[in-house]
Amino acid sequence: MQYDAIVIGGGPAGSTAAAVLAAKGRHVVVLEKEKFPRYHIGESLLPYGYFTLERIGVLDRMKASHFTRKHSVQFVGASGRASVPFYFSQQLDHEASATWQVLRSEFDQLLLDNAREKGAEVIEEITVRELIQPNGAVTGVKAIAKDGAQHEFHAPITIDATGRDAFAVTRNGWKVRDPHLNKIAVWTYYKGALRDPGIDEGATTVAYVPEKGWFWYIPLAGDIVSVGVVAEKDYLYKDTRDLAAIFHREVKKNAWIEKHLAAGQQFGPYRVTGEYSYRSRHCAADGLVLTGDAFGFLDPVFSSGVLLALRSGELAADAVDAALKAGDASASRFAAYGAQVCAGVEAMRKLVYAFYNHAFSFRVFITEFPQLKGDMTDCLIGNLFRDFRPLFDAVAKFAAVPEPLPHGKPLATGEVPESCR
Ligand SMILES: Cc1cc2nc3c(=O)[nH]c(=O)nc-3n(C[C@H](O)[C@H](O)[C@H](O)COP(=O)(O)OP(=O)(O)OC[C@H]3O[C@@H](n4cnc5c(N)ncnc54)[C@H](O)[C@@H]3O)c2cc1C
Repeated sequence: MQYDAIVIGGGPAGSTAAAVLAAKGRHVVVLEKEKFPRYHIGESLLPYGYFTLERIGVLDRMKASHFTRKHSVQFVGASGRASVPFYFSQQLDHEASATWQVLRSEFDQLLLDNAREKGAEVIEEITVRELIQPNGAVTGVKAIAKDGAQHEFHAPITIDATGRDAFAVTRNGWKVRDPHLNKIAVWTYYKGALRDPGIDEGATTVAYVPEKGWFWYIPLAGDIVSVGVVAEKDYLYKDTRDLAAIFHREVKKNAWIEKHLAAGQQFGPYRVTGEYSYRSRHCAADGLVLTGDAFGFLDPVFSSGVLLALRSGELAADAVDAALKAGDASASRFAAYGAQVCAGVEAMRKLVYAFYNHAFSFRVFITEFPQLKGDMTDCLIGNLFRDFRPLFDAVAKFAAVPEPLPHGKPLATGEVPESCR
């Protein structure tokens, strides 16, 4: 089973990378451990995701879908008072400004089907267990199918798109956590909860829990709302480990959330995840490149995860195609890819730090620096791959802005990864 490229994981990053490579005529296989459709968190998209969705050819299906259209985001203070919604079209005069709140089971299926239609071979219910690295460079993977059969796949390059399972990161000890962004989330779903009429129906609401954290409130198709609370683990678990009790204790702390949920009916399980932000020490090794959450994960307050998965999947695929053309899949070929993804993530990371700093207020910031509203908005809508120095020089007057993380570069070409020492 010899391919041009192997993609591990069929989430947004993996499906995008596979679709781009297959459209270029590359012989690519996606190995996905689950049977789709499968549940996934991460439902709120950002406007700039549009351009990758356009490139891989799924816009018509997105427009025809029943996914809720998202035109804005609003912030609700600890007192329960909502800000005026912030409409993306104010900054982006393009149809991309109306994005989507998606059911990830359906969205991810759509993307995986698209990769298949573009010519990628997709194998579900197969779990990659091992990288094949005869002399250090990755030349394939070993995987186990649902029936227990073992398979080997070979290619000059493997794309790790395994999400927060972070296959290569875990095996190589490359996970570097961001110590200041160590939150967890507890969430569930409601049917029939309140939503605003018209253009505001699909707004994401970020509602503060006084001093401690925040709620997301995301209206989905079928009159369903996704709602979750994010805060430090010690705080959420301070008096119980019962997820329902924690969730309802926190709901009482924001009058807007309490009122909006009172009209609906909770259903399904209460879920929890440790969402510690991290980035891999390396973006690539010889024959291997990391993308999406398998490369890094950032606190989800600004809904950046799927955008970064789509965009990094696209950029990784372009870099892989160039490497294949050159007949050289060594780590150093992915230096520009790693730098570009890290620069985009850094812009969002600085904004996330500001959000958690009590000395920073978006309202006060925009009042003092109205000329930077456009830059701030660009960051919030996911136009991340541009120069944000003036914005963060100004943010630094209110709140400490973190230095860029030094890691995320390729392993030195020829260096043997920890996993095969
Ligand atoms: C609480 C929370 C809330 C979030 N909210 C948002 C939001 O509102 N908006 C947003 O944009 N993002 C959000 N995110 C982030 C978002 O979920 C991720 O960034 C996004 O899913 C990353 O996509 P991916 O393709 O990299 O990984 P995934 O979507 O996780 O896909 C990885 C795939 O790899 C497969 N896989 C893993 N290991 C193997 C293996 N060994 N072999 C074969 N297959 C394997 C998995 O089954 C999975 O299908 C949130 C995250 C959390 C934790």
